[in-house]
Amino acid sequence: MTSTALNGAQVTDFELSPELEQFRATVQAFAATHLGAAARYDAEASFPREPVAAAAKAGLLRTTVARDYGGSAMGNLASCIMLEEINAVCASTGVTISVHNSLVNSLLGKWCSEAQKRRWFPKLVTGEWLGAYCLSEAFSGSDAAALRCEAKRDGDRYVLNGAKLWITTGSEAQLFVVFARTGPDRVKGISAFVVEKSWPGVSVGKKERKLGLRGSPTTEIVLENVSVPADCLIAAEGQGFTIALDTLDGGRLGIASQSLGIARAAIELIRTCIADQVDKKGRSTASQPDQWTLADLASDLDAYRMLTWRAAILRDKGVRCSTEAAMAKSCASRLANRAARAAVSVLGLAGATRATAAERLLRDARITEIYEGATDIQRLVIARGLTSPA
Ligand SMILES: Cc1cc2nc3c(=O)[nH]c(=O)nc-3n(C[C@H](O)[C@H](O)[C@H](O)COP(=O)(O)OP(=O)(O)OC[C@H]3O[C@@H](n4cnc5c(N)ncnc54)[C@H](O)[C@@H]3O)c2cc1C
Repeated sequence: MTSTALNGAQVTDFELSPELEQFRATVQAFAATHLGAAARYDAEASFPREPVAAAAKAGLLRTTVARDYGGSAMGNLASCIMLEEINAVCASTGVTISVHNSLVNSLLGKWCSEAQKRRWFPKLVTGEWLGAYCLSEAFSGSDAAALRCEAKRDGDRYVLNGAKLWITTGSEAQLFVVFARTGPDRVKGISAFVVEKSWPGVSVGKKERKLGLRGSPTTEIVLENVSVPADCLIAAEGQGFTIALDTLDGGRLGIASQSLGIARAAIELIRTCIADQVDKKGRSTASQPDQWTLADLASDLDAYRMLTWRAAILRDKGVRCSTEAAMAKSCASRLANRAARAAVSVLGLAGATRATAAERLLRDARITEIYEGATDIQRLVIARGLTSPA
């Protein structure tokens, strides 16, 4: 190719636009102002109510909603940038926002009818209602198609029965996207519904006592003879599994960004600790192994952020990004674990106690490798994406 052939060609730009840089600065300011109590939410396992309300006020619960419905239509890349900043300070607040935006708002925006959007978005974009995504069950985690929750058609309604498990924001959300079985076919027998918390038969069951993300309530949602109007079916009967998987591509970008935030916070603890180790003449006395650790983690952080942003840009363009999203999530979540573990080691006693955030980061990081598709499942998604025809 001649150099003239490249004239005017679009080159890849690794810099954010001034608008996105400004947005990042705004979210950083939000995090500095509202997320100072992250350690307390963790210690008390209490919901970060004030930060989530403040996030709603700041417009952070509507980034994936079109302007026609009160959203800011900022999209997936902006959401990823926002989630890295928030999760670098408080991962419990981060996952609440991620689920609301990337699993609930995105799903409704892509799959719901005009009337359905007009009905639910006014409450969701303002944060008056929080959303939750109800796919998992006792015998249906990685194997989502094994779900048993039943939706039986009865005239102009469906009657839902079953129990959903490990539902993020379960006790706080007012709107649930529920996946239930409308037919015997493992995949085509699954449909998606909007279920409101106030409806008879809907209740919040057991709350999990978790290792990490303790400020984010993870609960059972019990559905007992819940009468759901047929106009609360999302898209068409039998499309639930497609909707669930498509939505998880976006959700995984949220968790990849959460992982980047956790990793960044852990790396910053290591960096500060090493930078502080100097002799009287200002020469570093830090061990070489600690410096190598810092160098490797910081390099991986930058690389996996690019993986995450690549997938987000694809999704913003409407291009399927299952493989790219799985790459981003599996790499970033493993990095979060490595970085947090290293922070605890490098900081020693201060890392293993509540003197610093390191031990909380380690506990929070562990969950990023489990939810929205465990690491080994992500690796299968990637391998299938690479080996099966487009
Ligand atoms: C804090 C938290 C919040 C959650 N929030 C939600 C939520 O809001 N909504 C929701 O629907 N769900 C939620 N979940 C559930 C979550 O998505 C599941 O935990 C996850 O899908 C894994 O399912 P499982 O726990 O049943 O593990 P399993 O499916 O039993 O997997 C256990 C292990 O076996 C491996 N494994 C399983 N099958 C295979 C296979 N075929 N090949 C190779 N390895 C395999 C997995 O990689 C994993 O390491 C949440 C979970 C947690 C921990």
